[in-house]
Amino acid sequence: MTKTTGETKGKTDIFENIYALSKRRGFIYPGSEIYGGLAGTWDYGPLGAELKRNLKNEFWKFAVWERDDVVGLDASIIMNPKVWEASGHLESFSDPLAECKKCHHRFRADKIKENKCPDCGGELTKAKKFNLMVETYLGVIEDEKQKTYLRGEITQGVHVNFKNIVSSTRVKLPFGVAQVGKAFRNEITPGQFTFRSREFEQMEIQFYTKPDADISMEWFEYWKKERMNWYVSLGMKERNLRFHKHGKDELAHYAKAAFDIEYNAGGEWKEMEGIHNRGDWDLRRHGEYSKTDMAYFDEETKEKFLPWIIETSGGVDRAALFFLIDAFFEEKTGDREFRIVLKLHPKLAPYKAAVFPLLANKPELVKLARSIYKDLKKEWMVAWDERGNIGKRYRAQDEAGTPFCVTVDFDSLEKNDITVRDRDTMKQERIKIGELKEWMKEKLQ
Ligand code: ATP
Repeated sequence: MTKTTGETKGKTDIFENIYALSKRRGFIYPGSEIYGGLAGTWDYGPLGAELKRNLKNEFWKFAVWERDDVVGLDASIIMNPKVWEASGHLESFSDPLAECKKCHHRFRADKIKENKCPDCGGELTKAKKFNLMVETYLGVIEDEKQKTYLRGEITQGVHVNFKNIVSSTRVKLPFGVAQVGKAFRNEITPGQFTFRSREFEQMEIQFYTKPDADISMEWFEYWKKERMNWYVSLGMKERNLRFHKHGKDELAHYAKAAFDIEYNAGGEWKEMEGIHNRGDWDLRRHGEYSKTDMAYFDEETKEKFLPWIIETSGGVDRAALFFLIDAFFEEKTGDREFRIVLKLHPKLAPYKAAVFPLLANKPELVKLARSIYKDLKKEWMVAWDERGNIGKRYRAQDEAGTPFCVTVDFDSLEKNDITVRDRDTMKQERIKIGELKEWMKEKLQ
């Protein structure tokens, strides 16, 4: 695992377990590994790509498809640098950085309890502000004029499009804009696997309300509940979730009120999503810096005003990591046998089913299994396996989190049915081949 420093030390067992499983099964690999890696970057393998895609699709369904008052957006990663002046990121988007005078390792000062280096015990320098924005240059000349940034949060793409969205759609206050996309931060201490990366994805709703403290706080409470319930609806255990209220000293430069949804990762409560009341900070600042009137005209009351914003901002990678941790079980299955199983919600599981012929050297079994496999693949991501014995295939699918294993045996040829084995209970039942798809549809709801 990539060596990490500072806050990343301590209870890493669960992170190590998930890291090992991820690497072994193809969920997540270290970025640019053959070149020694690049700290804070990760690549999603075949299973991880499916998990992340499922997670984002579920978010999009929840945020956009199932609602009348939220629309979607996909803004660009690179924006006019003035955006970041206006949003306050160039001035205030920083963490306190301290350096060890002895080994010169750098740390986030706010994550270290004593003024001693966690790596060598040396004395640390006084903390100074370190800006997290990742710089980049557009065009062929590297000068200040061409300097821009990879977005540090996906939020601003929504606010700069506020007027476009109001004028091109039929949205009326209160309404929201959902977005999913990459963000980049020059984190001082990336680590704990994907928890703190330098490139990551966010899933957000920016919800505009009337500029009224009571109304906006009602929506704030509403979204807190909605977002917490969303994680629970996808199988995350309630006992591993809690809200953390930001104290005055924790509030971001734009926030009037903020709560985090935290996940208990092996005994450590970690931030997974932030719910913030941003007031009119973003629209006001963009109005000032772009000299554009960002006000909303309320046709009913004939009033013009700057709406307030309630934001829900979750990390796709953090959620994926915590769903993996939450689903990870080591179970005893016999006297000396145990299995590792990922009890992922079927909606998130990379493969919805795996299909096996009982014996790979019996063409009639392979033929029937193959036709079932091809048919299921029209609807879902499905795995095929004919290697080794059936027990080994079950273990492999348990580790991949596949909810159902379908086996074609000799009885199948006569009776037109197959065995379906349930990942969590390990129970098996016979189901008619013609009824399998309907049966699965019901289970995958
Ligand atoms: P932290 O305090 O952990 O640095 P933050 O409060 O700066 O996080 P926000 O700016 O509120 O985070 O971003 C919203 C969400 O984006 C976070 O809750 C998290 O899920 C995700 N996120 C933020 N930074 C990272 C990162 N470096 N790597 C992975 N996900 C991140």
